[in-house]
Amino acid sequence: MKNICVAVVFLFSVLVVAQESKIPVFAWMGGPGEATDLELEAQFTDLKKKGIDGLLYSGGHDPETYKRVGKFVKAAGMEFHTWIPTMIQSDPKLKPEWYGVSGKGESAYEIQPYAGYYKFLCPNKKEVYKYLKDMYSKVADVEEVDGIHLDYIRYPDVILARGLWEKYDLIQDQEFPEYDFCYCDTCTSDFKKKSGIDIKAAEDPSTVQEWKQYRYDVITSLVNRLSEVVHKKGKQINAAVFPGPSISKKLVRQEWNKWDVDAYFPMNYNDFYMANTLWVGSVVKEEVHAAKEKPVYSGLFISPRPWNKANEEDPEGHGLLPEELEDAIRESMENGAKGICLFTPGRMTDAHWAAFEKAIHIDYTKD
Ligand SMILES: [Zn+2]
Repeated sequence: MKNICVAVVFLFSVLVVAQESKIPVFAWMGGPGEATDLELEAQFTDLKKKGIDGLLYSGGHDPETYKRVGKFVKAAGMEFHTWIPTMIQSDPKLKPEWYGVSGKGESAYEIQPYAGYYKFLCPNKKEVYKYLKDMYSKVADVEEVDGIHLDYIRYPDVILARGLWEKYDLIQDQEFPEYDFCYCDTCTSDFKKKSGIDIKAAEDPSTVQEWKQYRYDVITSLVNRLSEVVHKKGKQINAAVFPGPSISKKLVRQEWNKWDVDAYFPMNYNDFYMANTLWVGSVVKEEVHAAKEKPVYSGLFISPRPWNKANEEDPEGHGLLPEELEDAIRESMENGAKGICLFTPGRMTDAHWAAFEKAIHIDYTKD
């Protein structure tokens, strides 16, 4: 009898240890496309079985889509957050004059920096806030939705990540006016009223610290107003952010450590910064420190074609190989991340999943 008791106690402790040593994992994914209910059910059950605890799911603006998909995500036992871009919008209901204006005076409605989909709204317009508030409110009302996940909650990249310069044939060692936003009348006159500075008369606006801070504050204020709306509905709000905030401030004017959100999902995509997995660790350290008590889920960019990484010129084709994934997870966790977030589970090869399975069951709190 004693032996049986010892065996039971032993088995119980093994189970407890096994349960305790699973790290929280989120994943960014889109859908549902043409997927049937049965296919959605199978897809989400499979992801949960593999170790995913929550989805940041991109399915457009229609609350009905999230109601349908959310039911299956919740039934599979995962958290369900809706991943909907904020400042990039192309809804025909939005007026051309609500879009951002570059330092060259060009509207992002007509001329987009870098890519055609870069139709950035001005984050300072009342009408833009109202549009976003209404859109996110309707989605947050869906019972199955646990939270709103903000993305593109920023200005256009005034400086691109270093790994992207060749792709766009640019040397961005300084801020150039065609990538610098927003110089619309609302923004420039409001800034003048608050600071006394006429930014349009400045010889080099990139040297005006108040103008930088003003734009960090514009984004922060937008996030915090949306946050209040979502929180009032009893739902969470979180965001995909650039690494940092030292990098996020410099590249896209996100001072995200001041945001009133429930969690941060920094996109620690090392290949975009021409860096290895050690960089992931150092940037997570900064992020965790900046986030104070709030959880940081380290966003990891999975290689879409691991067999061809060496031949890909564009960082979009780089990303973590199976043998790098373990390192990236360890670097994130040992530097204080609450968990990780995969971009994307659909890219994971069998070898990625094997490395992932091993890495997510390690207890990183121990020395
Ligand atoms: Zn503006």
